[in-house]
Amino acid sequence: MSEQFKLRWPVDSRTITQYFGENPHIYARYNQAGHEGLDFRAPVGANVYACADGQVLDVRPNRGNAYGLHVRLQHVVGGREYQTIYAHLSRALVSAGQQVAAGDLIARAGMTGHTYGPHLHLTLKLIGAKTLGYPDGVIDPLPYLQDEAPPQTDLIVYTTAGVRLRARPTTVSAQLAWLDEAEPLTVLGGAGAADEARAKIGQHGEWIHVQRADGMIGYVAAWYLQLAQPEPVTPTEPEPEPDLPDEMAVYATEALNVRNGPSTGSSRIGIALPHQPLILVGDWAEALPKVGDRSEWLHVHLPDGRRGYVAAWYVQLTPGPAPEKLLVVYPVQDMNFRERPTVRAKRIGRLAHNTPLVVNDDPARALALVGRYDEWLYVRHPQPPEDEWGWVAAWYVSSTPT
Ligand SMILES: [Zn+2]
Repeated sequence: MSEQFKLRWPVDSRTITQYFGENPHIYARYNQAGHEGLDFRAPVGANVYACADGQVLDVRPNRGNAYGLHVRLQHVVGGREYQTIYAHLSRALVSAGQQVAAGDLIARAGMTGHTYGPHLHLTLKLIGAKTLGYPDGVIDPLPYLQDEAPPQTDLIVYTTAGVRLRARPTTVSAQLAWLDEAEPLTVLGGAGAADEARAKIGQHGEWIHVQRADGMIGYVAAWYLQLAQPEPVTPTEPEPEPDLPDEMAVYATEALNVRNGPSTGSSRIGIALPHQPLILVGDWAEALPKVGDRSEWLHVHLPDGRRGYVAAWYVQLTPGPAPEKLLVVYPVQDMNFRERPTVRAKRIGRLAHNTPLVVNDDPARALALVGRYDEWLYVRHPQPPEDEWGWVAAWYVSSTPT
């Protein structure tokens, strides 16, 4: 793990009086989208500390400029150059070229330059970054401010493509880094954050607060993330052991939810029936001992080819009986066919009124759900090879044509 860039609080006060991006009407005259840094409560003469280890780039006098007397520090961390600017000072206590450590006293706060009263203004630059509407390099310092970063959850997510890590949860915010495909990211947040993140995975317009392995914190578009670690690309397959089968199937002991992550909090993506083989993903010899274990999950291929997770304590090694006949339901009006069992999930098709739909679930269990609000049924699309399986709202179907 390489170093991560962190900002210590530059003043003793813990009050921020103006955040990044606030008051766009005031900053329009500087051709900026809003406030380009953080303002901290600080009376004239208050101590101003270096936010990080670094070197003094320059100390600029109060000569009619907006920042008044200000100090600029340079910080090179993990191969990236950051700069911090401390503005509206009454006095500078360092000079250009001097090395400073995080927490060193470098200046006294004041009210020089364009300001309505005494405070410390802090600007953060990441050289090479660009926040739309702000000068080159200027980024929001808040994610870097120590004690402001939320705690890590134990959820790891993976990028599905090369994608930007951004300072804020919007495509117009600064790009902090370029993430490679399949890069692991730790989801940040307090209680419930991991479950919230799981629900957002794959959803267009949603963002997830994450930390990269090197410590950098930012936001990633949820529609470029997945829960499962991608299989490493192996250019040459090793010779298979002659005595062992290439793949091993397990079977649900009852109609079983298939989820997109190894926990009951993960989204349902399908249902497995007792007679349908679930092929174990990866090294089946490793997965097999987990069968029946109450705390384990198994990564499997669904009969429709997709992958998901099933609770290891609801599977067995032998197939159960196939149901005599699966339940058929009928939309009571034209309705959506969705990727997952939630109205927020991607719509993958439209189904006409009274289209017969075969429900992939235990017929008795499925029948009990028909007509119930907030329940979903996993059904086969009437016209494969469109996305063959998907979800319909149980409260828009009937067990007989209407
Ligand atoms: Zn300011």
